[in-house]
Amino acid sequence: MVIEQAWRRSTFLKRAPTAQILQTGLRLPQRASGIVRIDFHVHTTGSPEGIHGIAEVVERAKRVGLDGIAVTDHNRLMSRKRAAELSKAHNFLVIGGIEGGDLIRRNSHGDSHRHWIGLNLDEMPARGDIEEVTDRISDEGGVSIAPHPYARNGFSEYDKAGFDGVECLNGTRKDGEIDGRGLARVGGTDAHAKYMLGHTWTDVYDSNGSVESVLESVRKGNCRPNGSRIPIWVIARFYASVLGRYVFCEPCELLQNGSRYLRKYC
Ligand SMILES: [Zn+2]
Ligand SMILES: [Zn+2]
Repeated sequence: MVIEQAWRRSTFLKRAPTAQILQTGLRLPQRASGIVRIDFHVHTTGSPEGIHGIAEVVERAKRVGLDGIAVTDHNRLMSRKRAAELSKAHNFLVIGGIEGGDLIRRNSHGDSHRHWIGLNLDEMPARGDIEEVTDRISDEGGVSIAPHPYARNGFSEYDKAGFDGVECLNGTRKDGEIDGRGLARVGGTDAHAKYMLGHTWTDVYDSNGSVESVLESVRKGNCRPNGSRIPIWVIARFYASVLGRYVFCEPCELLQNGSRYLRKYC
């Protein structure tokens, strides 16, 4: 038993050396010309479990070789104007956005707990049926995406709700790459910490790298997800950080959210 445990431990360590666990040297492979690599699903400290602020997240995104990120904090919009200011300040493409949907499932009614992403908006879309929300995003010149559609808090009928795109690859989910059903196919990490970046992203074609050009390519479906699921040891590192924060700062929140985390990642 002891020997078996030691063997398991050594195998794990061989597969996940310290540099990989800490993700210090992660770098995306060389990309073909004409492709812009964007992570369309990134959280910062604007989200309840977000660990790093926008400056740290952007610095990390640059270092791993992404060309841009979309900030999609939970129920908190980063406006088009704010994103433009950040892009200028950091000399890096930041697309403003929001991930909407109630976070605590048991308090929700109908589809309100299901998540949707709106990109490049000036105002929060008013609450309503998902078809109304995607219509409003479209009217405002934004782009709507159905994230993690096969999660409990996703829209599994994403092709019937007016979305522009669907997150065919989500870094935190074990679903693998899913069918786009005719919508634009995107990928995003759903990172809640900077070291989760660089595993999942979207290759965007026929774009000059500006916000409008990237989003126009998405509307036309000129994009595809790339990368893979975030390694389990990176997710474990994130878990450990959140657990530490809850245990020492917010023990009641831990009891409330613990089962939600288990369902999401296990
Ligand atoms: Zn979500
Ligand atoms: Zn998310």
